Amino acid sequence: MKRPVYFERALFFSWYCGLGDCTFCYMSTLKDNKTDPKLARRRFSSIFAEALISKVMGWKIEFISGGYDSYTKDELVYLVKGVYEITGQKQWLNLGTLSKKELELFKPYTEGFAGTIETVNWELRKKVCPSKVLPPIFTSFEFCDELNIKKSITIIIGLGETEDDIPELIKFIKEYNIDKITFYALNPHEDTCFTKSPEKEYYATWIRKTRESFPTLPIVAGAWLDKTDYYKAVLEAGATSITKIPSIRKFGSDEVREIVKSVEEAGCEFQGTLTEMPNVNWEKLVKDLPSETFDDKLKEEIVGKLNSYLKKMRKGSFTNN
Ligand code: SF4
Repeated sequence: MKRPVYFERALFFSWYCGLGDCTFCYMSTLKDNKTDPKLARRRFSSIFAEALISKVMGWKIEFISGGYDSYTKDELVYLVKGVYEITGQKQWLNLGTLSKKELELFKPYTEGFAGTIETVNWELRKKVCPSKVLPPIFTSFEFCDELNIKKSITIIIGLGETEDDIPELIKFIKEYNIDKITFYALNPHEDTCFTKSPEKEYYATWIRKTRESFPTLPIVAGAWLDKTDYYKAVLEAGATSITKIPSIRKFGSDEVREIVKSVEEAGCEFQGTLTEMPNVNWEKLVKDLPSETFDDKLKEEIVGKLNSYLKKMRKGSFTNN
């Protein structure tokens, strides 16, 4: 039987970061142009519409992510609860570091907490993530252990680390009992000090060595759309899910079709669809959402957002509607 492979989509609730100085990040290029966190937030209806599309298409939510200051705590708990009710999946949270009290609030709808480690070359990390310091992430991990919440980490390959750093990653995963890992191939942004992505083989080596040490660890791996040829390599190296694809904007595009083909070529079976529009009564799906969480006005807004996303997706898809 072929190995199933899922697409995991990060669900962003805001385009804001209170730190803004990780040297590889697009946010660092906007420094003099800091956005008001409240203005950078997305509407609940957009986020819920995206969650519903993900569920219908068979995509998993990789994590819910965004700048913590964009919403009040209560609003964020409501948001995570809403996504949980739409998808039927407890969620992973990538919201920055969280206190024990905060984790307790999220816990009923939460599978795990994502720590954005980015690199395990600790000297390099001080340079590339000057403000995103490690101790609060470690403290959040400790709270997760106390509350029985899973832990994941994100790692970017191509920041200046070398293969010599792989044993440190293996040690880290063991030491902190990490339940899931997401690898990204660096996508160099204009106006940052980075100009190159990692070579495909080098990127796959990180995944392969991680897989060799942890045969059952869920490994998510992504690369930007200009690297569709990386997907086969990362799956052969042992990744269990793929990510990073702009799946709504590029639904059914040539690049996405190539990625889906490479999943098959890697001997895996792609779950869900990134190319074909199913025949679904979307309005009924929204209508059937529980009214205690989704009032009529919100449902109406979700339908409006759904229609605009689906319109984009239909452009590139085979549609059954
Ligand atoms: S904390 Fe995250 S969003 Fe903020 S600058 Fe660093 S990588 Fe970018």
